[in-house]
Order: sequence, then structure tokens, then C-alpha cells
Amino acid sequence: MKYYDVIILGAGAAGLSAAAAISPEKKVAIIDMGNTPARKIAISGGGRCNFTNDAVSYERYFGNNPKFVRGIIANIASKDILDWAKSKCIKWSEKTPGQYFCETSAKSIITPLIQDAKNADFFLNETVIKTEKTDGLFIIHTNKNTYSSKSMIVATGGISFPATGVSDVGYKIAKQFGHKIIPVRPALCAIATKTIPSELSGISINVEIKNGKSIIQDSLLFTHFGLGGPAIYRTTVRDLNDDIHINLLPNINVYDWLRNEKQTSGKKSIFSLLATKLPNRLAKWLAPFENKNLADYKDTELKTLSEKINNFIIHKNEFSLYNLQSAEVVRGGVSTDEISPKTMESKLCPGLFFAGEVVDIAGDLGGFNLHWAFASGRTAGMYA
Ligand SMILES: Cc1cc2nc3c(=O)[nH]c(=O)nc-3n(C[C@H](O)[C@H](O)[C@H](O)COP(=O)(O)OP(=O)(O)OC[C@H]3O[C@@H](n4cnc5c(N)ncnc54)[C@H](O)[C@@H]3O)c2cc1C
Repeated sequence: MKYYDVIILGAGAAGLSAAAAISPEKKVAIIDMGNTPARKIAISGGGRCNFTNDAVSYERYFGNNPKFVRGIIANIASKDILDWAKSKCIKWSEKTPGQYFCETSAKSIITPLIQDAKNADFFLNETVIKTEKTDGLFIIHTNKNTYSSKSMIVATGGISFPATGVSDVGYKIAKQFGHKIIPVRPALCAIATKTIPSELSGISINVEIKNGKSIIQDSLLFTHFGLGGPAIYRTTVRDLNDDIHINLLPNINVYDWLRNEKQTSGKKSIFSLLATKLPNRLAKWLAPFENKNLADYKDTELKTLSEKINNFIIHKNEFSLYNLQSAEVVRGGVSTDEISPKTMESKLCPGLFFAGEVVDIAGDLGGFNLHWAFASGRTAGMYA
């Protein structure tokens, strides 16, 4: 059996950050079932990895208790990550102000992350099967070896996007040590719905989406199975207990606009008017009677049409989340109730730490998830 002071399960953003933060006198191992570390970082941000965001604050995190992140992100801000990136000569660009992407490729961040973790022995292509704690030591069984350690950091990530190699072992380990698991579901993902016809596929427009208390303004993409794009991704990471209300022309009161046009330009068709503000295919779907003049519409009909544009509703039972295979993250995971928000250590089992997406914390689109993985990983490493 191989002995270590700290063993980290998972060599993703959280596990590598944890390894880098552990004091160099300690003997550290990091075990991952993949053949290379950080495979999710490699595909993040379309291969350019959106690694942090100046807008990091607990309001951009979701879970049963988003305020849990406050202490961790207060200690590790976007500036700290940028300072680190600068020290490693990583070049970045801002897609929108304060949203940081690697300038060329995610590789430019992965290489220094692995270098920083060089104090650790890496065991790749090894799958953690189960763990136990006996006589104050964690015993970790993989498909190849058995290890023991004083502290164990579970950084095995979420279970979305299985093409990168994922497992639910982190949830199983947490449960075994008495932790609650919040049911997991896809988040930062598209939705499937029959309310939208597939012939609109490929159209992208800026919209406003309301769901419960959340209001998102961002771009929406019509797909062959429903809706995607940033506006929908960001909606799905939030609590989803209500119907989805989409304003397809958020800056225009369509009813007032059409009634005014009816008075001044009654001979125009609704289609031709809508097509001045919306893509043709979408305008045609909203106003299929291309040749009917505006003057031929009753105000009540205009009201119904306007509602469809300013408040298009997809009812709760008319959509489903599409799907774990393509979701960027999961909602749910190891409950924050039994984890210290200061150290990321289990309140139930001394020496057991959690970091990254395995915890019931999911961030908004825009670099918030990697920020959380780096910050929680670093914290767990510092205290492990
Ligand atoms: C397509 C896509 C794009 C994304 N883009 C962004 C973005 O631009 N910005 C952003 O902030 N976030 C983005 N994310 C989310 C972000 O990548 C993740 O939240 C983050 O990488 C999670 O880090 P982690 O270390 O917690 O988990 P992971 O990176 O998933 O690492 C967990 C590691 O544990 C290992 N593991 C799991 N089970 C076992 C086992 N049984 N034995 C051994 N090893 C195991 C896995 O192999 C993996 O290497 C994206 C995600 C996806 C899927």
C-alpha cells in the first residue's frame, strides 16, 4: 500500500489547484481515471477556456445555499487568478468586459496548472472504486492499487458531459461518510420542447427570459429539438420551478407598435413589419398569413400576436432539460450543509475535503464554474 499525507481524487481544475496549494513538505498524490489531467478545461469555452470573471459574487452561483461560496471567493478573486495567469505568461482576452478567455487555447492554462502541481505524484488511468477510513487513515482502492492517506480531497467533478470521462464516485464517497447528496440534474444546457418547430433551427436573436424571479437578457438559439444559446443555458442553471417566459423583442411593446402602424400604414402586412425587427423565418412563423393587411386585424388579434412575441410561454410541462450528455455542468451534488465554508473540510469526517463541481454549487455561464473549481480547490489544498 502506498502512503501519502494528502490524496486528491480527480485531476481537473479543482484537483490540480488543490495540489498546487498544499505545502511542499507534504507527500501528495493525485489520482485520475483519464489519461491526461484537466480534460474538461481543454474543452471549456469552446477550447479557449473562459477561466474567470470580474463579476464573481455569490449571486452568480446556484445550489441549495449559494451564499456558501462567499468566504471562498472573498479570498480568491478574479484578480488573484489573473495575477497567477500573468505570472505564467498566459495571454488572455475579454469576450465581454471582465469575462476572461485564454487568447489562443485552453492548453495555455493547463500546462502551468500541471506544472504547479508537480509536488504531487500523478496516477493517471486509475479509477477510484471505493474509499474507507480505518484508524484515522483514508484507504483508497482503485482498479490498480490501494493507497492510504491522512487527508483526502474529493475533486471528482460532476457527471455531465460524460464524453470527457466522468463518474459518480464523489457522491458515493460523500454519502458513505454521512453527507447529504442533492439530486443532480443537467444545467447550463439547452431545452427540448415541441412548442418550437424545428424549421426555426439556426436562428439566433437577443431576448429576455423570465423564470420565477430570474430575468436573463442574452442571445437565444433555435435548435432542431428546442432552444439553446446563452439565454437558455443561463436559465437552466437557475431554479426552474416555473413556466419560461420569453420576450422575443425585449425593447419593443409590440402591441403599441402594431396598433400605431395599423393607424398609419394599414396596408402593410404584419409579416413585412415583423421582418424589419426579426429574422424572416421567425417572422413568418409568428405571422403565417403573409398577405393579410394590418388593417384587417382586430385589436384583439393584434393583442394575441403581441403576447406571442413579448411573452412567449413555454409551460413547465412542455420542456425538458437537454441533457446530461451535453450539459456544461450539473446542479446538485454534495450538500454544502456539512462542509466548512472556510476550509472545504467535511464537518462530519475530519481530514475529508471537497472541491469543485462535485459540491452542490453551480456557477453562471461566463467563467464562474472554473473560478469556483480553482478557488475551492486552492482552499481545500491550503487546509488539507
Ligand atoms: C463543454 C463544456 C464547456 C465548459 N466551459 C466552461 C467555461 O468556459 N468556463 C467555466 O468556468 N466553466 C466551463 N465549463 C464547466 C467547467 O469545465 C467545470 O465546472 C470544471 O471543469 C469542473 O472542475 P472540477 O475539477 O470540479 O471537475 P472536473 O474537471 O470534471 O474533474 C474531475 C476529475 O475527476 C476525475 N474522476 C472522476 N471520477 C473518477 C474516478 N472514479 N476515479 C478517478 N478519477 C475520477 C475525472 O477524470 C476528472 O478528471 C464547461 C464544461 C463543459 C462540459
